[in-house]
Amino acid sequence: MQLVILGSGSPIPAPDRAGPSTLVRTSVGDLLFDAGRGVLLRATGVLSGALAFKAVFLTHLHSDHTTDLNDVITTRWAMSFEPTPLSVFGPVGTATLVAATEAMLEQDIGYRLAHHDSLNWRPDTQVTEVTEGLVFEDGEVRVTAAPTDHAPVHPTVAFRIDDGDRSVVIAGDTVPCEGLDRLAAGADALVHTVIRRDQIEALGIPRLIDVLDYHSAVPQAGATAERAGVGTLVLTHMVPPVQPGAEHEWIEQARSEFGGEVVLAEDLTTIELGPAGQ
Ligand SMILES: [Zn+2]
Repeated sequence: MQLVILGSGSPIPAPDRAGPSTLVRTSVGDLLFDAGRGVLLRATGVLSGALAFKAVFLTHLHSDHTTDLNDVITTRWAMSFEPTPLSVFGPVGTATLVAATEAMLEQDIGYRLAHHDSLNWRPDTQVTEVTEGLVFEDGEVRVTAAPTDHAPVHPTVAFRIDDGDRSVVIAGDTVPCEGLDRLAAGADALVHTVIRRDQIEALGIPRLIDVLDYHSAVPQAGATAERAGVGTLVLTHMVPPVQPGAEHEWIEQARSEFGGEVVLAEDLTTIELGPAGQ
C-alpha cells in the first residue's frame, strides 16, 4: 500500500500547495480522500486521475475539502468511454452536496451531451452516507469510519484503510477525540491536519483565532499519534502556511509528544506502507 499526499494545503491559497486531498493506493486500486483545490492536477502527477479512482471518501463538507469534487465528477464522466459510476462516501449531507454539484453542472452536462454522439449517458454519482463502522470492502481492502470532533461542523468522520496487514488513517479536521483514538489504534500511518496555535495567537487575526477551537495543534496531533501507537505521523493542511526554513519547528512540536516518525507533508509526499498491495 502506498500513501500519497496530493494536496498539503489549507483554505489559504498557496502557489505550491493544493487543497486537502490524499490518495491511498491499495491492492484493489486508488482510493481518494477529500477533493480539495487542484486534486486532479496533483493526481496526474502520480499517474492517477478521475477514471482511476475506485471510490472517493469525504471526511467532512468544508469547502476546502470538497471544492474540486465537481472536477472529479465532470472529468470522470466527460473522459469516459462507457458509463463509469463514481462511488462517493461521506458524512450525512454528502448526498445534498452531490445533488447540488450535479445541478450546478447541468448546463455543462447538456452542452456535452448535445455535442458528443459517443457520450449519451449522464454523470452517475452513487452516494453512501456514513457514520461509523465498515463502509467499503473489496478484496483485502477494508475502509472503516469513525466520528470525529470538528464542532460546530457536524457530522465529520475519519477513515481507516486496511489492506492486508497494512493500515493508514485519514483523520481529516478534528480536535483530539475518542473516535479518532479508537480508529487509529495500531495503524502504520496517521495523516492529520494541524495548526500552529502559537503562531495563530501571535498573529491575532480574528478569522484565524476562530479556527483554534476546532483543529488540533501540532503537539495535540502528536499526542493522538502517541496514544494510538502509530508508526508514522504525517502532518498536513498546515495553518498558517509553513515559513521557509521553519519546517523543523513543526516536526519538533509533534515530536514533543510522539516517539515515532514525523513527516511534514508537501504535495506528492509519498510513503510506502510495505509489502501488502502495491
Ligand atoms: Zn474543516
